[in-house]
Amino acid sequence: MKLRILFAAALAVSAYPAAAEAGLFDVHVHLHSGEASLRGYDAQLEASGRQVSGYGAMWFGGPNRALHGDPDAIRANNDALLALARRDPRMLPIVTVHPYDGEEALAELARTAAGGARVVKIHPHTQGFDAADPRVLALVRRAGELGLVVLMDNANIVPGDSEKLFNLALAAPGTKFLFAHIGGMNFRFWNILKAARTAEGLFGNNIYFDISAIVALVADSPVADEFVWTLRNVGIEHVLLGSDYPQYSLDQNVEALGRLGLSENELDRIRLRNANELFGLTALQAH
Ligand SMILES: [Zn+2]
Repeated sequence: MKLRILFAAALAVSAYPAAAEAGLFDVHVHLHSGEASLRGYDAQLEASGRQVSGYGAMWFGGPNRALHGDPDAIRANNDALLALARRDPRMLPIVTVHPYDGEEALAELARTAAGGARVVKIHPHTQGFDAADPRVLALVRRAGELGLVVLMDNANIVPGDSEKLFNLALAAPGTKFLFAHIGGMNFRFWNILKAARTAEGLFGNNIYFDISAIVALVADSPVADEFVWTLRNVGIEHVLLGSDYPQYSLDQNVEALGRLGLSENELDRIRLRNANELFGLTALQAH
């Protein structure tokens, strides 16, 4: 009997250490086709021998655009994602709205936050909005009030991308922002945060970044050292790992991150700890 208890205890412990050992949180996963995409993501993880303790999943992206004037479709897609998240304890659901839907977008934020959403993603390029529009500011402020982190594309496809996002974050200090791809090849802009922190009362430290896809592009490149210098200037504790699946695999991103010459502590923060802190997941994982 005692042996059985010990064995059961060992099993109970081993269920998490596998994930904890891997120490990965993937904050940027596109599930274009819901559950079928999730099976593809898991198969890719298994093939590469990687495990995640959690992942941020969005239905938005690729063929799914979340366009202005179609709030019914947006609601249906958000509901399908939230239903999927209820079946997978690893999933951090990332819903979407369109800022130009105005009051309907604000109502959808509140509705999905009550339904378990933790993050909202909006994308100036593919959704065709201007990040400097007052409706965007109203939306991100409401998101902050609801405790939602705002994930925005920051690949610098649209002119003035990083500049507008920086001003947005300054105007909404009560909201936490996660800027995907840390400015793409224009990542150098974000070194401004080091200077912004010295201006008293200017900057609320509410900007975080994911390095999905861009890390795979810059590792081994002539600008790799400059990229590392940038990560340290924005603050390693504000940098999160992501895959941008299916465009990139998690393995590609983790491998590239490992080639940057960061310390073990820095890697651990980027791979897992920063996500746990930003999304308040540590308590969840202890259970
Ligand atoms: Zn993406």
